[in-house]
Amino acid sequence: MRFLELAQAYERLEATTKRLEMRAILVELIRPLRPPDLPRVLYLSQGLLRPEYEGVELGVADSLARRAVALASGIEEAEVGKRTKASGDLGTTVSELLAGRRRLESEGPLEVADVYRELERVATAAGEGSQETKVKTLVELLGRASPLEAKFLVRFVLGTLRVGVREMTILDALAVAFADGSKDARTRIEAAFNLSSDLGLVAGALVERGIDGLAGIGLEVGRPVRPMLAEREPTLADVLERMGGSAALEFKYDGLRVQAHVPKHGAVRLFSRRLEEISAQFPELVAELPKVVKRPPAIVEGECVPIDPETDEIRPFQAVSKRRGRKYDLDRAQEEIPVCLFLFDILLAEGEETYRRDFPERRKILADLLQPGDHVRLADQRIVHDVDGATAYLDEAISEGAEGVMAKSLKPGSSYRAGARGYWWIKYKRDYTVGLSDSIDGVVVGAFSGRGRRAGKYGALLLAVYNPKKDRFESFTKVGSGFDDAALAELPKRLAKYESETKPPEVDTGLEPDRWMRPGLVLEVRGAELTLSPIHRAETGAVHAGAGLALRFPRFTGRYRDDKAPTESTTSQELLKMYRSQVRQAAPSEPDSGDSRP
Ligand code: ATP
Repeated sequence: MRFLELAQAYERLEATTKRLEMRAILVELIRPLRPPDLPRVLYLSQGLLRPEYEGVELGVADSLARRAVALASGIEEAEVGKRTKASGDLGTTVSELLAGRRRLESEGPLEVADVYRELERVATAAGEGSQETKVKTLVELLGRASPLEAKFLVRFVLGTLRVGVREMTILDALAVAFADGSKDARTRIEAAFNLSSDLGLVAGALVERGIDGLAGIGLEVGRPVRPMLAEREPTLADVLERMGGSAALEFKYDGLRVQAHVPKHGAVRLFSRRLEEISAQFPELVAELPKVVKRPPAIVEGECVPIDPETDEIRPFQAVSKRRGRKYDLDRAQEEIPVCLFLFDILLAEGEETYRRDFPERRKILADLLQPGDHVRLADQRIVHDVDGATAYLDEAISEGAEGVMAKSLKPGSSYRAGARGYWWIKYKRDYTVGLSDSIDGVVVGAFSGRGRRAGKYGALLLAVYNPKKDRFESFTKVGSGFDDAALAELPKRLAKYESETKPPEVDTGLEPDRWMRPGLVLEVRGAELTLSPIHRAETGAVHAGAGLALRFPRFTGRYRDDKAPTESTTSQELLKMYRSQVRQAAPSEPDSGDSRP
């Protein structure tokens, strides 16, 4: 496929925010494709070169891209910088600069395959001279590109491709382009993606082997599985009722979810909740897992929490979050903040897939295979049959340092549902405060300039929840409290890479922040209650026409959810459920109102 066709499709995608239109453009784009172009186009359209979990990065900083543009267009770098300030983005600038220029025709038009190969070269260039290699490769590519192609090439390498194509839209398009477009086909395609985390692989299998061929996609050690997620219920009585009277309750450890891939030979690999490889952060887990997980290969899952090495007590989560992403001496970190991984599930045991089996059986397999060690143990669990038993266990969990309990269904059908949120797992945290019992993970979509003491900095952030049905980010609150001076000072740095001159197309809000942000940074907030508001857009119209859900008195908890992709933030549907359960809880105190709406 010609790269120009892809660039033209991007231009059309950029011009629309409607999911159906996006899908139609994508379908037209991918229908004629076969591997290897098909997976390449899918990765490129998401701003990637390889499936996200592989973590392949181009390593192209703004300055490097600017230099490449300057060389390719024969214009001074400073001038390129100036023009970019005016146009708002280097992609637009390069397309302006290249317009009307003669191209290097000798090598013919750019093919997707050429672009992909060259970008791979950019990504793999390492060590001495790598910056030069990157610049040279980009200059050559730009030399062959038309203005439109150059625009998207530059945006791609800078990670600012704003075509807004996310996984869910691609899955929709795959179902239409290569299957009958039915709900069933869509579900099966998504299931294959949830198991493999690789859209390119799924698309390839689909086009070559048909929808039934997707069944051949299984688990592979080293390739992360998208995590199963939990629902919530407002009371333990509700939890038990949902589960049919009995449930396995486990400690809900407050740490980092870790999926550990233990091969028969070779190194253990650890993946975060958002499928990033985090093996390097936890050398003690990598070292201990092969010793304590008997008869590999295996894929196990658990929560990693800091523990006090002297007393074995669970320590607050902040300790482990400090360790994440810091490049300081890991040996010291291991000593100061040792962690323990409490395993709660097993997807592959002795090379056999176990994820389809019911939960009680999986737990038994896990317990049999595990020889608990210093850093890897089994999650605490108790089977309960009534509310008293559940309450006693919750008290115990909390006094031991857990943040609540996770209830797990014991019923037939309680298989591990990759990537799905359902009532097979229900989380319950203690309701410490009057008001909302649970925190909300919001995505930053805008920032407001501070005043007074906060002048010159950001003073508040506009947060959104994700609406998977519409594939959009809907605002629900503006949060300014909970940021101490240090947090405020580092906000601009954290947010720099998401800044946007214009409102990102996937964002819905009635507010106009001083600075728009592309959805990227996820952070945790708590609030007093959910209400309805005409300026926020979360689930607009679900309760009252023209009103969205809004969080009152929001407060940043101090916790960034770097382990969550923006699409993994709290969903608008979850917010609606929280709103309704809050109304239900409030109802008994207003017996006469006849209407439980606030
Ligand atoms: P989500 O509901 O989207 O996962 P979250 O990460 O904010 O959002 P939590 O309220 O933290 O959700 O609850 C789910 C998480 O709880 C799991 O992803 C896992 O990291 C953690 N967890 C702790 N203990 C357990 C356990 N025993 N079983 C399963 N998950 C557990």
